[in-house]
Amino acid sequence: MKVVYQFGGGEADGSAADKQLLGGKGANLAEMTRLGLPVPPGFTITTEACNHYFASDHTWPEGMEEQVRTGVARVEADTGKRFGGTEKPLLFSVRSGAPVSMPGMMDTVLNLGLNDETVEALALRSGRPRFAWDSYRRFLQMFGDVVLQIHSSRFARACRELFAEREAQELDVDELKLLCVAYKRVIDGAVGSFPADPWKQLYAAIDAVFRSFNTQRARYYRRTHGIPEDCGTGVNVQAMVFGNMGDTSATGVAFTRDPSSGAPIFFGEWLPNAQGEDVVAGTHTPQPLNNHRDPDSTETLERSMPQVYEALVQVQERLESHYRDMQDIEFTVEDGDLFLLQTRNGKRTPAAAVQIAVDMVEEGIISEDDALGRIEPSLLEMVLRPVLDPKAQRKVIGKGLPASPGAASGRVVFHSEEAQELHDRGEQVILVRLETSPEDIQGMTVSEGILTSRGVQTSHAAVVARGMGKPCVVGATDIAVDYGRQLFYAGDTVIRRGDWITLDGSTGEIMEGNVPTLPPATDSGAMSRLLAWADDRARLQVRANADTGRDAQRARELGAVGIGLCRTEHMFFQPVALRAMRQLILAEDKRSRQRALSQVLPIQRQDFAAIFRAMNGLPVTVRLLDPPLHEFLPAAPEDISQVADDLGVRPERLRERLEQLHESNPMMGHRGCRLGITSPEIYATQVRALMEAAVEVSREGVVVLPEIMVPLVAMSEELESMRKVIVDTAELVLGELHERIDYRVGTMIELPRACLTADRVAEHADFFSFGTNDLTQMAWGFSRDDMSKFFNDYMHHGLLRTSPLATFDVEGVGQLVETAVRLGRKTRPMLKVGICGEHGGEPVGIGFFHKAGLDYVSCSPFRVPVARLAAAHAALGLI
Ligand code: ADP
Ligand code: MG
Ligand code: MG
Repeated sequence: MKVVYQFGGGEADGSAADKQLLGGKGANLAEMTRLGLPVPPGFTITTEACNHYFASDHTWPEGMEEQVRTGVARVEADTGKRFGGTEKPLLFSVRSGAPVSMPGMMDTVLNLGLNDETVEALALRSGRPRFAWDSYRRFLQMFGDVVLQIHSSRFARACRELFAEREAQELDVDELKLLCVAYKRVIDGAVGSFPADPWKQLYAAIDAVFRSFNTQRARYYRRTHGIPEDCGTGVNVQAMVFGNMGDTSATGVAFTRDPSSGAPIFFGEWLPNAQGEDVVAGTHTPQPLNNHRDPDSTETLERSMPQVYEALVQVQERLESHYRDMQDIEFTVEDGDLFLLQTRNGKRTPAAAVQIAVDMVEEGIISEDDALGRIEPSLLEMVLRPVLDPKAQRKVIGKGLPASPGAASGRVVFHSEEAQELHDRGEQVILVRLETSPEDIQGMTVSEGILTSRGVQTSHAAVVARGMGKPCVVGATDIAVDYGRQLFYAGDTVIRRGDWITLDGSTGEIMEGNVPTLPPATDSGAMSRLLAWADDRARLQVRANADTGRDAQRARELGAVGIGLCRTEHMFFQPVALRAMRQLILAEDKRSRQRALSQVLPIQRQDFAAIFRAMNGLPVTVRLLDPPLHEFLPAAPEDISQVADDLGVRPERLRERLEQLHESNPMMGHRGCRLGITSPEIYATQVRALMEAAVEVSREGVVVLPEIMVPLVAMSEELESMRKVIVDTAELVLGELHERIDYRVGTMIELPRACLTADRVAEHADFFSFGTNDLTQMAWGFSRDDMSKFFNDYMHHGLLRTSPLATFDVEGVGQLVETAVRLGRKTRPMLKVGICGEHGGEPVGIGFFHKAGLDYVSCSPFRVPVARLAAAHAALGLI
């Protein structure tokens, strides 16, 4: 088996196409060598060798040692140096490199091959003893730390004991020699003896790279990121070039475009007289390469080493046009000569990703389809949100589920009223709760971000925060919220009311303090261009879920072509409506029920009118009341008497009613159309408000296309009966007002039984809209409110990779959807079918709904761009 792939002298065994076999770093080193770029020679040991190592009890494949020796010999021939030689010693870097980059894997060992003899030779040969001993102390520390696993603090302590606060780079030769002795003593003390033999060093370093592939951290990362266990890592063994040889030497990193804005400017950082790790370690402050972003800097590479800079500019142009993507390049300058050590597609902010893709189309580098394919749809939800400053220090104190992206900081409050109070005083607040409910809407509105210790991505907090475009972390089971004492625990940390915390809704991380964020990118127009290309390709239409005129307006601006779900329950939480609703629930007779409802009516009419105006000419699907009635009554005992007082009833009466309404499992209780069946006047009032609003705005010249949707239908008879209530009321209103407005009546499909009998349900439905939140819960037989109790274990044991509430369950729930579409269209071939659950904004779901033949998806306004791009990906066969 060939396990060693050579590169050097303009030739390479591998190329960029061999990422699986050689890892990303190795494949690109081979490719750059083939392009004739100055890459120090070396070889890559394949990922297959790594897999073999684990499959056969930590042994190398047959013949590998020989191939490694041949590899070394070829580098010796290329460089004219000798590994372990006391004349011209050859040193290596040994670097890991998997097919996909994986944090938590082995760090690089530089300057391998040094010992007490070769260091003298290096000093003599280079005429720079300080450089030689500086390299040696670096090697001892890195090899000790990375290969021998001696904690780096022990080296730091040894250095401190000798030189107090002084750093290694301030030391002179003799001091560095002392430091090397001390470091070797640390190693001898920890592992017996320092391996002076370069070959032993090399073999140990190769083994260490292999082993690092299988650490717990690396395995955890693979599991959570869906990276196959058997991808293995490559090992890159490469001749050293020295950036620490004095003032004509340097090291740095460069991006072919600005990775934070995407602007087409060459950008990067460098350090004179340093080795690679110094740039990233943060111990030195690197200088900008040029003045593009730092006009005032005088210490640019461009000024200090103009020729090197010029060469680097040419290389970066070459690399970008070769790879047709923004590159992140590592380089080192050894005594005036430029060398390339790495290139890869550069990481970038979501905004930069969009900007770069669109610019590259305009520059003729890639096609529109390429640009669409390059952007992961979910990124678009982050483009217009603040992100954490990548340079900022952060102390993560806990982690939950990422529920709505973006970063936010603020003072902790535990109650909505407090959020409002602090906000009114000009403070930034983060609302922290066990979970949220519709009563918290106001508090959420004024908060920068929301954190809940319970719940999942479809819980109230998550759905509402996404709708508001606010960062949100839910299900943070490692924090313990104590409302009574106004604090929460996160491990050893106690966060009290008023303390600052920071949330990252894209990763789920909770941080102590006020971590600086970068403001959202200003939209340069790149996103709208990209989305216009997306719309050209997509077949699925994208609507939005919006409950207010303002949300509808925003959804329309983000490109929604209709409202797929207007939840009417939020309308009842407006103070006057809530009071009326409570009166309704407590009413003893039909007349007082009617009286209560007539107070709700004008409020709802107004809300509907605002939405219709915002969506002029586009369809608006309104769902009739869905949640169980007890949600409108106070839950806390201390609130009961106050509310009773306010309503003018005895507290006992309220308590009695609460008891009657109590359900063991409200999710499967008296809700949805079951409410409509038992109290048809509620639905009738909603329909009246809706039709009156429709007439009102159409008289203003607005084109209204109302679609009235009945929730939680299990059997066709329910829909038949509700349809009659709806049609009778609508016709009555239209007759009274002498107007004609076309409307449709349809149903949510959110119960398995409705899917299985969809042919009959369709007899009474003009449209179906899948409510995949409930459908998923009902199909799995769990409730989102309880699943956090076992869900973490499912993830931990690898039974589930993501929550089926966050990522659509194609395998299971998908079959219900397919069945319902097939049966529904058997009855009505033209049946319009959409989906309005949270999966309507989630790429896996969208890929599936495209294939299942749906007409549209509907999602939170801020996810509309995500869905538009995902719909294009689906049409292009990318998901
Ligand atoms: P990472 O994956 O963390 O980027 P690398 O393997 O790229 O790690 O290397 C870490 C640092 O060591 C980089 O800054 C790189 O430039 C430097 N380095 C790697 N190989 C060599 C070499 N042959 N000569 C000089 N510096 C090197
Ligand atoms: Mg690197
Ligand atoms: Mg539902």
